[in-house]
Amino acid sequence: MRTVEEYKEALYKMKPNVYIGDEKVGRDDWRIQGGINIIKETYSCAVDPRYEDLCTAISHFTGKKINRFTHIHQSKEDLFKKQRMTRVLCHRVGGCIQRCMGIDALNALSVVTYECDEALGTNYYDRFKKYMIDFQERDLAASCASTDAKGDRSKRPHEQENPGAYVKIIENRDDGIVVRGAKQCITNTTYVDEIVSVPCRFLTPEDSDWAVSFAIPADWDGVKLLSRPAWVHGVQDLPEEFRCPTTELGDVETFIIFDDVFIPKDRVFLNGKETPDATAYGGFLALLFAHYHRHSYTGCKPAISEILASACSMAAEYNNVENAKHVSTKISHLIGTAELVFAAGESSALHSEKSPSGTQIPDEVLTNAGRRLAGENIYEEYKILADITGGIMATLPYLETFTNSEVGELALKYMQRNPKIDPIKALKIVKGIETLGCSDIGGILQVAGLHGGGSPQMETIAMMGRYPMKDLKKVAKYLFGITSKATIFERSENPVTPRELLKRYQKAMKFKQKIKK
Ligand SMILES: Cc1cc2nc3c(=O)[nH]c(=O)nc-3n(C[C@H](O)[C@H](O)[C@H](O)COP(=O)(O)OP(=O)(O)OC[C@H]3O[C@@H](n4cnc5c(N)ncnc54)[C@H](O)[C@@H]3O)c2cc1C
Repeated sequence: MRTVEEYKEALYKMKPNVYIGDEKVGRDDWRIQGGINIIKETYSCAVDPRYEDLCTAISHFTGKKINRFTHIHQSKEDLFKKQRMTRVLCHRVGGCIQRCMGIDALNALSVVTYECDEALGTNYYDRFKKYMIDFQERDLAASCASTDAKGDRSKRPHEQENPGAYVKIIENRDDGIVVRGAKQCITNTTYVDEIVSVPCRFLTPEDSDWAVSFAIPADWDGVKLLSRPAWVHGVQDLPEEFRCPTTELGDVETFIIFDDVFIPKDRVFLNGKETPDATAYGGFLALLFAHYHRHSYTGCKPAISEILASACSMAAEYNNVENAKHVSTKISHLIGTAELVFAAGESSALHSEKSPSGTQIPDEVLTNAGRRLAGENIYEEYKILADITGGIMATLPYLETFTNSEVGELALKYMQRNPKIDPIKALKIVKGIETLGCSDIGGILQVAGLHGGGSPQMETIAMMGRYPMKDLKKVAKYLFGITSKATIFERSENPVTPRELLKRYQKAMKFKQKIKK
């Protein structure tokens, strides 16, 4: 496994293809360091005895010990551990741990490449396996680029007026493919080694040129990373006494442009232009990436709710209202959501299925139900934080004010509320809450809480696509005297294998085509 220093060294050697505003910068730009400090935790915890069991796994390819963020889940236990690791690491960084997207995409690829080869005789899984072994050996970190620019939302890729709306294969060559297009809203790309690209929606037979998946280094020729960093205000000149984990962290979201990028064959994991029948697997891949990512959310979202609950309890102490009834009622909503979302993830691991590739797939209904509950509650949770803290979380003067020779002491004096909390501690509590709820990073986390892994409607579609509604209806049919025999209905007793799911999807897509004709 890599050390933190080796991770950073590899990063700083990359070609500068990061654009911030009108500047082109390298990975050593200070505005990227906050994100690096987050990924760093995933390397240091893997060798920390307190976290090692959660943060490492044994590779089923090589039998070697690897970082869990490079593991393809082989069992229920693996899924449980991934979820717990995500929760625990998010607690350490006050939000998103940021290394899950890449491995979520790779887990999806392990299933889909295998399925496609079995059905069509392609050789994607072998390529994928070779890539994956190298990924594990080098302990790489990756981003997942799924969300296309998408253009007109009501139209499929081949129907778009803007031909660049979805990443497309523009040329098939003997040694690889050339792709063109853009992916938007992609987390962590400026501080990871690789970009794993997968489609972002169901594809019809006419969308074969858009059925593409590949992995390339993030500084590959023709790749342009238009970046939007977020960091804690004033972090560069912060007095030592105010430095703490939250002040050192940050995030970079990236708008990736693939400007006619050549992808060597051994890095192509799906090519609908070459094998049109493989197009359906593009949609299946989009669905499975979202699925693994939503399962990761059942680890990180509970952590974020817990961080907010913890911050609320600090705020209540600061305001000396800790014993007020409404405060504990409000905090109980945060804890309740955290526990339910985590339970949904655990239960989806319990009811997970082994795919023919050997990769364990979490239960779809439970994962989506949990993820949707988290998304629906996100703004309510921040409302509770603002309610209990008061307006100061949005109006706090910059920290430098409190060390200013003229007004610093005065400012500190008026920060005091609960007489048992000294003003410096009080200031740290408010600054921490400002970072969580009312900063650039806090704003990003709120939208990520809603849209990350797909908009809430997409979770509903995924959930209901799998739900056995016909069987459920039988319960009412018996109760209303329409049938005489009671049905024993237990949703989890009716698993649908991924292969059956794919068949249903293929059928639905053909059906749509017929109607159109
Ligand atoms: C902070 C953050 C980090 C992210 N990180 C990543 C990442 O690392 N990798 C990645 O791939 N993606 C990432 N995303 C993208 C995320 O997955 C998308 O934002 C999400 O899938 C929603 O897509 P969208 O933003 O294009 O919104 P849209 O899909 O355009 O949604 C906007 C609205 O339009 C509706 N809508 C869309 N299409 C239709 C339709 N055909 N019919 C009816 N209604 C429709 C939606 O339901 C929604 O209400 C990130 C997003 C955020 C906010």
